[in-house]
Amino acid sequence: MSVNYNNTAAGETISLAAVSKTYMTAKGPLPVLRDIDLEVKAGEFVSFVGPSGCGKSTLLKIIAGLVSYDTGNVSVGGEAPREGREDIGFMLQQSVLMPWLNVSKNVELPFAISGRRDGNTAKRVADLLELVSLTPVAKLNPWELSGGMQQRVALARALALDPGIMLMDEPFSALDEFKREFLNIEVAQMADKLGKTTLLVTHSIGEAVLMSDRIIALGANPGRVVGDIKVDLERPRRADMVGSDRYQQLSNEVRAALASDLEGEKQ
Ligand code: ADP
Ligand code: MG
Repeated sequence: MSVNYNNTAAGETISLAAVSKTYMTAKGPLPVLRDIDLEVKAGEFVSFVGPSGCGKSTLLKIIAGLVSYDTGNVSVGGEAPREGREDIGFMLQQSVLMPWLNVSKNVELPFAISGRRDGNTAKRVADLLELVSLTPVAKLNPWELSGGMQQRVALARALALDPGIMLMDEPFSALDEFKREFLNIEVAQMADKLGKTTLLVTHSIGEAVLMSDRIIALGANPGRVVGDIKVDLERPRRADMVGSDRYQQLSNEVRAALASDLEGEKQ
């Protein structure tokens, strides 16, 4: 089957200027993000790393319009964030597939929900399954699949409406290391091919280096940018880049940026 993604929607720009966010909790105000400035170019792949609780998920949710921000300015594809945009695909740690729908029907879901199911949908779903190498299991139910395959279904579903922006919040965290690295490479290559703007939250510095054009290191309490590291490994990315000298240097740079913030905390 030929998969034609030449007409895929182009990536969109994302810009945050002096964005701050404080949650109101039972224990009082909790500042989670302070003065976040960020310019993401169309088609750029940017990863966010930082300690638990530093506001990474909040940041993605602000961009997706799922959480409000207090001050600053956010522009997503030239517009203010808004919930339910079809130009944003969101992928989470758990694939949240519908257990009563088979793989193919799960991928079809966004078309049904958005009222965009038409004569082209079956072909589009078949192409998406081909893209993520799931054609042989199209009729299986989610619980019959491995964790890695379930995340592929989630990926296909996030790509279904051809968004210009992909947001991924620790999508590989539940996978074992081998599967994870394999999927890292595939998704990095796919992002290249499709030209989507991609934001990835990850706990893995190695994963960030392997996949991204740029890595934003965040410090905690409140979350703020403590490092902005350009990843100059050539594209397409390959598994054998893991452990190369440049890969090690870049990993160390990210680690140093994160560590410098922790040292500040001790003082
Ligand atoms: P991360 O993804 O980096 O681990 P989060 O953005 O999930 O961080 O959370 C940042 C902080 O805000 C954490 O301390 C978390 O407990 C808190 N938090 C997250 N969501 C809410 C919420 N809806 N209400 C109150 N506090 C929240
Ligand atoms: Mg999180």
